[in-house]
Amino acid sequence: MTAATRTNWAGNVTYRASELVSPTSVDEVRRIVAGTPRLTALGSTHSFNRIADTDAVQVSLAGLPPQLEIDTDRRVVRVAAGMVHSQVAAGLEARGWALANLASLPHISTAGAVATGTHGSGIRNPSLAQAVVGLEVVRASGDVAWVDATTPDGALDAHRVALGALGVVTAVELAVEPTFQVATTVHLDLPWDAVVTHFDEVMADAYSVSVFTSFDDRGARQVWVKRRVDEAAPAVDLVALGARPATGPVHPGENDPAGVTEQGGVPGPWSERLPHFRSSFTPSTGAEIQAEYLLPASSAVDALQALRPLRSLFAPLLIAAEVRTVAPDTAWLAPSSGRQSVGIHFTFRRDADAVAAAVLRIEEALAPFDARPHWGKVSAASAERLHEVYPRLDAFAAVARDLDPTGKFRNEFLARVLS
Ligand SMILES: Cc1cc2nc3c(=O)[nH]c(=O)nc-3n(C[C@H](O)[C@H](O)[C@H](O)COP(=O)(O)OP(=O)(O)OC[C@H]3O[C@@H](n4cnc5c(N)ncnc54)[C@H](O)[C@@H]3O)c2cc1C
Repeated sequence: MTAATRTNWAGNVTYRASELVSPTSVDEVRRIVAGTPRLTALGSTHSFNRIADTDAVQVSLAGLPPQLEIDTDRRVVRVAAGMVHSQVAAGLEARGWALANLASLPHISTAGAVATGTHGSGIRNPSLAQAVVGLEVVRASGDVAWVDATTPDGALDAHRVALGALGVVTAVELAVEPTFQVATTVHLDLPWDAVVTHFDEVMADAYSVSVFTSFDDRGARQVWVKRRVDEAAPAVDLVALGARPATGPVHPGENDPAGVTEQGGVPGPWSERLPHFRSSFTPSTGAEIQAEYLLPASSAVDALQALRPLRSLFAPLLIAAEVRTVAPDTAWLAPSSGRQSVGIHFTFRRDADAVAAAVLRIEEALAPFDARPHWGKVSAASAERLHEVYPRLDAFAAVARDLDPTGKFRNEFLARVLS
């Protein structure tokens, strides 16, 4: 299949790849990798930049047979790399097991989410990459390697968030725990003063908390509190702080609330509460562009205050901004690597020029806070800046050169970032 008109999910990137191949077995992946001079693995196309693009061949893992093998003694599940979150979550839940956390969107592929450090929210919840116990990867030679905690030189932490640079991942083993129930409640219009004065308390008040804001006088337009029912009830009285309870389901953007997972404090399985969106719905039209920055949690309030003067710039462009917490990761390149983090995420209308201008202003405002751009979203950061905020990037580049000496997996994005 030629790829002339294929785009990413959002439609803001037209892939330059000359070909898309979809092998149906690991042996076929091996033959393709061994016999192709340059290629890039493609997940579910949900990144907003050229990280998954190439001028050569894209390899999708979506055609590999689904696999979901739970080892209850070791508390791990082995899944085929191309399976999307909703497939994995439904399969685990049906057998009484759970992942600790998930991103907002259930349509994202496992390997693609892991490769970019994709995360949900929760002060004790790291990214999905941190749940990786081992992974099967096809190297540039076509050989298959298994990488886990016993592999020397911290290889597992290099491979967790690998940006597609270390090989094509065909299967991932993830830590699981017994299933649990979650109840989501939503409050509206928490005043800005309350957001910044009580930020740490609010974000720590439940298993997974998300604050949505436009940085304007409405403060936090929505506060989503996802409480595990086996944990203590939230202690922060958001009404006393000036918010009001939502009286029906709300969407964080502008779309039909029917597409969001159940709110109203109704308990349900983790798999149907931790993502914001239902797998049966497309969460939005796709006509959007996202940017996100992860910074030390201790700087979050200052960073939010630094962004507030940009509210008039955001007004015509911003669909939603979401503030989340992420626990420290050990992955070298996780945006939350080595530090308790807060992610400040922006969903913009799909106006590439206006977004590029806004991103420049955001990155200026966040410059004092050591903010790390999300690998799968748009950013104006230079390679030099990325090396400053991702201190293990040089070490990662050395591993990539070692494992992929001919640059088989090196696309334009990686050539810039790993330079
Ligand atoms: C609507 C929407 C909601 C989102 N919500 C969140 C969120 O809640 N939290 C968050 O952190 N991010 C979120 N994202 C960003 C998204 O999670 C990342 O961009 C993620 O990388 C997308 O995964 P993908 O499978 O689409 O990968 P792609 O975009 O296709 O690829 C991303 C990277 O993964 C690599 N890759 C993919 N498959 C393999 C493989 N088998 N082997 C090796 N490398 C591979 C690619 O080469 C590339 O480097 C969201 C994106 C969208 C569009």
